[in-house]
Amino acid sequence: MSNTLILQSLKEMTDLVVNCPSCNTLVAWVTSNRHRPFCSDRCRILDLGEWAVGKRGLPADAEYYDVKSEKLNEE
Ligand SMILES: [Zn+2]
Repeated sequence: MSNTLILQSLKEMTDLVVNCPSCNTLVAWVTSNRHRPFCSDRCRILDLGEWAVGKRGLPADAEYYDVKSEKLNEE
């Protein structure tokens, strides 16, 4: 592979742009952007926080399964 071809494919890669999943800002998909696909560390943490909050909605189900398993242990 010639150097020109490698440089060309590298340029195509750096031209890739994605939307930040948190705030929808256009983010360049480059190796120098360690927050990708997010635009910043703040957005990355924000998204992780939302994910954690979503997980907290589950305890109702977990309780139900706990009661069930307790009953099974009694029998
Ligand atoms: Zn963002």
